[in-house]
Amino acid sequence: MAKWYIGIDLGGTFIKTCLMDGDGRSQAIIQRPTPVDKGGQAVLEAMGAGGLEVLAANGVPRGEVAGVGIGTPGPLDMAKGVVLSAPNIPGLGGLPMRDRVGQILGCRAVLENDANAAGFGEYVAGTGAGLASLVLVTIGTGIGSGIILDGQILHGANGVGGEVGHILVERDGELCGCGQRGCLERYCSATYLAQWAKTQVEQRRWKGPLADSLAAKGELDARDVNEARQAGDALAAEAWHRAICYLAMGCITLCRLLDPNVIAFAGGMTKAGDDLMKPLREQFLKMHWTFAAPRTQLTIAKLGGDAGAIGAAALARHVLA
Ligand SMILES: [Zn+2]
Repeated sequence: MAKWYIGIDLGGTFIKTCLMDGDGRSQAIIQRPTPVDKGGQAVLEAMGAGGLEVLAANGVPRGEVAGVGIGTPGPLDMAKGVVLSAPNIPGLGGLPMRDRVGQILGCRAVLENDANAAGFGEYVAGTGAGLASLVLVTIGTGIGSGIILDGQILHGANGVGGEVGHILVERDGELCGCGQRGCLERYCSATYLAQWAKTQVEQRRWKGPLADSLAAKGELDARDVNEARQAGDALAAEAWHRAICYLAMGCITLCRLLDPNVIAFAGGMTKAGDDLMKPLREQFLKMHWTFAAPRTQLTIAKLGGDAGAIGAAALARHVLA
């Protein structure tokens, strides 16, 4: 009997579902809207329905599914298979997600933090394929991360390890949403990069492309900053450089602690492509120690928005086979 695996990536807007064959190849990915306004139970039912839909669309009987992996926003109680709270999806906290989705699909289920599931996907099927270790850093509103070492997701003793966005890069620095001061996220997420640029335009009474962009839109995002930088705006260049220097510091810390094969970057900020990666690699090399050559590759992740669903399916195949 053929064995199949399902991976579900639960997001605040979409539920993505991957069908994976027994050899670990992703055969199909579908998505449906997350019914956030209908309550937590409806979200669990929609997750199960997505699984049934991808099976039906590919002619796979429910009885041939060996396991389902679920990547979900957390924090989680992994032992109980329960999401403790998910700020973007009200009503989900405390519900038996693992057991209910497994029940709908008639198979065993495994629950994982969404950033870790995406990291696992990138590790098995993206830039980490065939390598021993990978760190996936997702830069958007905040900074998410998944650390995979020798095939294992790093969870830490208390389930809160591997939070790259909250390593400290400044003493008494900016206050982060997590309650610490000086977190990496607070200096180089797309949101905070733009916020810093906006504050500086106002404080310095700056004139030029960056100020023009702010005046036209009333707000700035990271892309505005990069475009102003390309137009020769010195403050935009400073904001961009500042964020990249902090990000490079974060990469150096990852290398010192973990020496990973790859640090892969995903999220909205990577749309900047070489405008992000080229100066990042330059700063990384500048900060790198000199007694051994830098070997860790800094690169843009391959799987994009599919990493979470693929990773969740791969995780099911890995732990439920
Ligand atoms: Zn923080």
